[in-house]
Amino acid sequence: MKKWLFLCIVLLVVGFRFYQKEESSVKYRPDSKTVAVQSETEGSEKTIHIDKEQIYEGNLILVNKDYPIHKKGTASDIIKLSQHEELTSGFSLLDHSIRLSQSVTEQFARLTEAAAKEGVTHFRISSGYRDSEEQEVLYREKGADYALPAGYSEHNSGLSLDIGSTLGEIGKAPEGDWLKANAWSYGFILRYPEDKTAITGIKYEAWHFRYAGLPHSQIMKDKNMVLEEYLEYLKQQQSVQITVDNRKYLVLYAPVSKNTSIQIPAGHPYEISGNNSDGVIVTVLLSTWKI
Ligand SMILES: [Zn+2]
Repeated sequence: MKKWLFLCIVLLVVGFRFYQKEESSVKYRPDSKTVAVQSETEGSEKTIHIDKEQIYEGNLILVNKDYPIHKKGTASDIIKLSQHEELTSGFSLLDHSIRLSQSVTEQFARLTEAAAKEGVTHFRISSGYRDSEEQEVLYREKGADYALPAGYSEHNSGLSLDIGSTLGEIGKAPEGDWLKANAWSYGFILRYPEDKTAITGIKYEAWHFRYAGLPHSQIMKDKNMVLEEYLEYLKQQQSVQITVDNRKYLVLYAPVSKNTSIQIPAGHPYEISGNNSDGVIVTVLLSTWKI
């Protein structure tokens, strides 16, 4: 009987070790801040499993001349804006064919609603999602100085939009000023700023905004980082905490070279986005409170 018991234990241990080998495991590092998080959740953790393909999708994917978009990288909720009047009452469209991610459009509608309360009302979307054929045509027509080849443009993701003003050039219009000051609080980033052309490889575009979501847009704004720098920063930090609008977030980076498991504090909503090169970012909403 004892022999059987012994054999069972041996099998269980071997089996468990084998299971562990199947997945690499990433645990958030309990620095002094995350220890506080652990006590809030009474130390309980949730394990989430990441598929390697998840590297290529989500609001934080980096798409540039070095990292083309993956077939999974295009947002799954692309809509034709002219068919969604309920979302577009706060801005105009340059033409009826413009498409964009629905959730990004909803955030942009929130943004224009807030701007309208401050008297800034002349927003116009001039470009949104482009499929590879449209991007190729643009590249051929405009040339390498003004457009990127198909697959290398953020417009292929459905997360980027070119914003104009019906009052004139966006860089000189009140809409441009308002966006510069406030777009980040709705999850949008000015993707190609004037002082970062050496990093982005793209000349200053006052009109091109990209949705990255909160709290990322706030961190990038606070630290004056473009997406390239921010993703590198997360990779180095591995774990960042920030409070935005009374919401406390934990942001974790995990390298993913094969199917991976990540442990996060249990019982909190979270989102996963790839970086489009070698890992994922998990954003955990730790707490929300009202003043
Ligand atoms: Zn653009």
